[in-house]
Amino acid sequence: MIDQSLKRTFLPGAIIFKEGEPGDAAFIIERGEVEISMLREGQPRAVAVLKPGEVFGEMAIIDDGPRSATAVAAESTELLAIPREYVQQKLVTTDPLMKLFMQTILERLRYLEKRSASDSSRAAYTEHQEQVLGRLRFHQDLLHGFEKREFELRFQPIVSLGAGRIAGFEVLIRWRHPQRGLVNPAEFIGATEETGLIVPIGTWVFEQACDQLKAFDRLRAEHHPEDPPLYMSINFSSRQFIDENLVTHMNQFLDTHQVDPGSISIEITESLLMSDPDGASIILDRLKGLGLRIAVDDFGTGYSSLSYLHRFPIDTIKIDRSFVNTMLVNHKSRGIVQVLADLADNLGMDVIAEGIEEPGQLNFLRTLGCRFGQGYYFSQPVTEAEALELISQDGFGTANR
Ligand code: C2E
Ligand code: CA
Ligand code: CA
Repeated sequence: MIDQSLKRTFLPGAIIFKEGEPGDAAFIIERGEVEISMLREGQPRAVAVLKPGEVFGEMAIIDDGPRSATAVAAESTELLAIPREYVQQKLVTTDPLMKLFMQTILERLRYLEKRSASDSSRAAYTEHQEQVLGRLRFHQDLLHGFEKREFELRFQPIVSLGAGRIAGFEVLIRWRHPQRGLVNPAEFIGATEETGLIVPIGTWVFEQACDQLKAFDRLRAEHHPEDPPLYMSINFSSRQFIDENLVTHMNQFLDTHQVDPGSISIEITESLLMSDPDGASIILDRLKGLGLRIAVDDFGTGYSSLSYLHRFPIDTIKIDRSFVNTMLVNHKSRGIVQVLADLADNLGMDVIAEGIEEPGQLNFLRTLGCRFGQGYYFSQPVTEAEALELISQDGFGTANR
């Protein structure tokens, strides 16, 4: 219960708070009227008049930012104050994701207000506002989509190029949008990284993939006992590693679900290694400590200095498909593929060529001694049922298909 001492009265013209001040409370109007104004080009301008029942001053106490407007009692006014500590206490116990969303919304609101206060062109403001609101709506759709279990996984085989057998699968996420149908990750992974939703989504992908691997391996052992067990390769965003508990949680999951960590490969990008080499080193050591394998994705597109490679406990490099795509017609791409294959070999790493689409590319990779590959030539990313079908078949043979 809120006690009586939180009631505050103001005479007409009295300032309740001023733009730029730190905020100690939000208010609900019980009686009277409050005028909200903001400085525009140095002049105060009224932006709203609030009536009983309306709330104001909430932004500054949620995100610790300064007051974004001035509030003045327009007549004799009675307010109920909600002190910052009261809200902060609630915030501490709020779900971290909700907190993150609230902060994101507030940041956007503050940005919008700033723009509206300085922008003389109303049209530009509206357009920007629409963009921001559109983005917010998209973020909300994603969150609801995750809650409503609209995400699905696809599996693309990674093939040993010599024998044409399936060595493992890369797990790729899709969003089954109720109106738009199947949405590709390029359209939404960025947004989930911005909001932090990638953290729970990434955990979900990891857990699903581990469970799926067990079903895949059972079928493999049944149909092809002569073949080694399969592995799963799972994409991770750098944003996921900000979560301190991630590695501990992964460890617990692997343990309780009895998944061999050696059959899980974590795909990270070069930029994660290069933007913060010391931080990356710690994370990778912890992942390696669990027995997981590490793959560097889209290799060659980032900024990695080759001299850095030996610093990290990397098991596999994945040659980006832009090189594989063009290597038969572009001698520079060909040179890069060759160098990367040799480099991986010398450093004792595995190499996977991505984006193999034609038999000529496969043949050339074989002559280079590149051991693994994936791409539409073998298979698109497929559903669980289709993946099971591929596993039970004979693989992709050694002859050209
Ligand atoms: P990626 O990790 O480089 O994944 C390979 C992408 O190339 C996939 O696109 C795959 O469908 C596509 N691909 C495979 N073979 C071929 C080919 O022969 N030709 C061409 N043109 N494309 C091929 P997809 O599934 O749309 O995924 C796009 C990106 O989204 C992924 O790129 C990855 O960065 C990200 N992503 C996907 N799933 C996840 C996830 O669970 N977590 C995170 N953090 N990122 C994910
Ligand atoms: Ca990948
Ligand atoms: Ca890739």
